Amino acid sequence: MLYSVVAETYEKIENTSKRLEMTDHLVALLKSTPPDIIDKVIYLTQGKLYPDYVGIELGLADKMAIRAISRVSGLSEKEVEALLHRHGDLGTAAEAALNNKRQMSLFTFESEKLTVEKVYGNFEKIARATGAGSQDRKINLLIELLNIATPLEARYIVRTVVGKLRLGMADMTILDALSIAFGGDKEMRKEVERAYNVHPDLGYIAKKLAEEGINGIKSIKLTLGVPIRAMLAERLPSLEEILEKMGGEAAFEYKYDGMRIQAHVGKNKTLLYSRRLENVTSQFPDIVEAISHAFEGEEGIFDGEAVPVDINTGELLPFQMVSHRRGRKYGIERIMEEIPVVLFVFDVLYLNGKDMTQVPYPERRTALEKWIKDTGNVRLAHRIVSGDIDEIKKFFNRAIEDGCEGVVAKNIGEESIYRAGAREFLWIKYKKDYRAELADTIDLVVVGAFAGKGRRKGTYGALLMAAYNPDADRFETVCKLGSGFTDEQLAALPRMFEDIKRDTPHPRVWSELKADYWFEPVKVLEIIGAEITLSPTHTCARDVLEKGAGLAVRFPRFTGRWRDDKKPEDATTTHEIVEMYQAQIKNVKK
Ligand code: ATP
Repeated sequence: MLYSVVAETYEKIENTSKRLEMTDHLVALLKSTPPDIIDKVIYLTQGKLYPDYVGIELGLADKMAIRAISRVSGLSEKEVEALLHRHGDLGTAAEAALNNKRQMSLFTFESEKLTVEKVYGNFEKIARATGAGSQDRKINLLIELLNIATPLEARYIVRTVVGKLRLGMADMTILDALSIAFGGDKEMRKEVERAYNVHPDLGYIAKKLAEEGINGIKSIKLTLGVPIRAMLAERLPSLEEILEKMGGEAAFEYKYDGMRIQAHVGKNKTLLYSRRLENVTSQFPDIVEAISHAFEGEEGIFDGEAVPVDINTGELLPFQMVSHRRGRKYGIERIMEEIPVVLFVFDVLYLNGKDMTQVPYPERRTALEKWIKDTGNVRLAHRIVSGDIDEIKKFFNRAIEDGCEGVVAKNIGEESIYRAGAREFLWIKYKKDYRAELADTIDLVVVGAFAGKGRRKGTYGALLMAAYNPDADRFETVCKLGSGFTDEQLAALPRMFEDIKRDTPHPRVWSELKADYWFEPVKVLEIIGAEITLSPTHTCARDVLEKGAGLAVRFPRFTGRWRDDKKPEDATTTHEIVEMYQAQIKNVKK
């Protein structure tokens, strides 16, 4: 398959801001792709080579790409840098540089054409090159591509290789496109999404679909070593309402405030995944060892929360202590000694060859009790099963006293299966800040910023924050955020956002406010607010409750926590904001 077909589609996608048109272009591309390389086309479209959990990333340094562009175009590195400066993006700079080369040369040899296979193959070699001389090898692999590429192809090759393709194709949009391209009906969409939830590898799903159709999709099962999308919890404003919703009795577990970990324990190997499904095995050798030891079966997939503990007092420590480990490759051993973590296991998704996700919660818990032995470093989530509100309240208070965030209530009926990727009322969380300020902290996406004034001159005065609307696959603004930042944090903001700045609002962002700066909607942070109000300016859930009005968070404050463990699509949804608004009204009435 010619890479030009792919590049031309990217250009079309880039030139539209309408989601439906984006999907149409993608559908056309998928239909014209041979099934045996459709996985590669999907990964490339997401700017990757593999699903995230494999952990192999492109991401050549800009400097290296500039060197390659210079060699191919005959421009000096300084001249390429000037182009980068003028265009603000290395892909467009490469395109301009190659156009320049064309005008200069009298003869063009265009006998060889770039194929997707060639581009993917070289990218893969670039991603895997390590050790002595690897920088030169990477540059040469890129030069080889750019020598054959048209200027338009060069634009996308360079953006991809430096890790900045950013077509804004959310996983859900790709799932839509796949269902349309290969089925077209609703049942197909549902099946495709189910498969994605238990095997979140879009390339694999695309290939199954293209080669085997709906039966291929139906045969996709949970697999040891492939992370499953996490089940999430709904929220309600009081324990009474939770108990009622659960039908008068439920399990209540401590809600540990740490990092969610999905552990895949095999006969010879254990793998750990984060909530975003990244492979975090190398950050937690202690958990790998502890869970492999605590599990007394052959193979299992466990869901749990890793929490740091104080080695002197045994107390649970704040999550921030765990986050020090994230992204670290070196010095893990020292940190492990200073801040050991305990894995509190609360679910089992696969056990000795059996898919446990379809088994009700009480049976899963019994299986956990049978197969996981308490080793100190691995423990089962503390819980009670009760229908007595006084007992439940006491349990909640004890959870807070023991350093937890609150409790998670779990349905104990026949229907209480593990719903991968879903946020439903089978699990309901209740946190301590429900009683203070706003019902809960919320996680919002930074979509823009306003220039600072006075003491904040030179940095941002406020960030424009948005919630995620999954139906429209869009980020809708909900507040301006200016408080809760330390001076250092404020000063560091412009640098943090430099790389994702853009001139216009991102096509997936809906804002009626004119920000001074716009960003790719990728960074998630946690805020707490005083209340939610109807708003004429913000677009969150516009027209849902009242014609012409959206919802806004009043007096938002940054809690200090960047939610790097969340993708933008994992941010609080506009539906949740509506629910929180409604819960708040109900409480005021009471
Ligand atoms: P929050 O923002 O409230 O920390 P979240 O948005 O990351 O939560 P939620 O679905 O809202 O995710 O809350 C569930 C989270 O609580 C899980 O992702 C998990 O990390 C954590 N957790 C801690 N203890 C438990 C437990 N016993 N059962 C389920 N989840 C638990």
